[in-house]
Amino acid sequence: MRKPMVAGNWKMNKTVADAVTLVNELLPELKAQTAVDRVLCPPFTALYSVSGLLKDSGIGCGAQDLFWEAKGAFTGEVAPDMVAELGKYVIIGHSERRTYFGETDESVNKKVLAALAAGLTPIVCVGETLEENQGGKTEAVVTRQVNAGLSGISAADAEKIVIAYEPVWAIGTGLAATGPDANKVIAEYIRKPYAALYGEAAAQAIRVLYGGSVKGSNAAEFFGQPDIDGALVGGASLKKADFMEIVNAAAK
Ligand code: PEP
Repeated sequence: MRKPMVAGNWKMNKTVADAVTLVNELLPELKAQTAVDRVLCPPFTALYSVSGLLKDSGIGCGAQDLFWEAKGAFTGEVAPDMVAELGKYVIIGHSERRTYFGETDESVNKKVLAALAAGLTPIVCVGETLEENQGGKTEAVVTRQVNAGLSGISAADAEKIVIAYEPVWAIGTGLAATGPDANKVIAEYIRKPYAALYGEAAAQAIRVLYGGSVKGSNAAEFFGQPDIDGALVGGASLKKADFMEIVNAAAK
């Protein structure tokens, strides 16, 4: 049995003051929903405050990225140990980083390795663009991203990873995939290549989330699918009521 997970990716939203307000609003209901692993990923600037508020709450805290080097002259970057001081999770390879900040399969892999070495749980994002989807390339792209992202990772470490299938065309667009389509990609193009690397039992044990315009009104469609274990949520994680609707749907 895989425990459902719902992670909120706040992206570049919320000042420290706004982040503190949202966490304080969320805490009572979020704390009570223990049937779901709940994770909040604020921007770096709010990570310290949010992690302090979440301490001993059972709710996980995570970053939205990290750099693979341990320390040194890398202006603007944040090291794995710095994230691990404040959180347990880190989103890696989000499509916005791949699209706007030059993230590649190779840099994703380096970040996954560095995150695991620091004791973090990476939430590794994969997904095809609209053009790739319409060109019939979903299988090739997603399988490549899974294989490349996991390159050189031991079976013991691979078990700790969470994968998020986020079709790029569905992120922030209001245009979600259908539950069965997302389930097919996860079962066929994520769990299968993972099984080829680490075995069928391991592929059935890892959690794979769906992300892309998840909201209260469509969450149940995704969570009802056999291979979808929860959601990575962007826009709908910024308001208490919207996020709680999704978390509560995952508990059912
Ligand atoms: C995301 O940023 O990971 C995401 C899925 O965004 P949204 O829910 O806004 O589509």
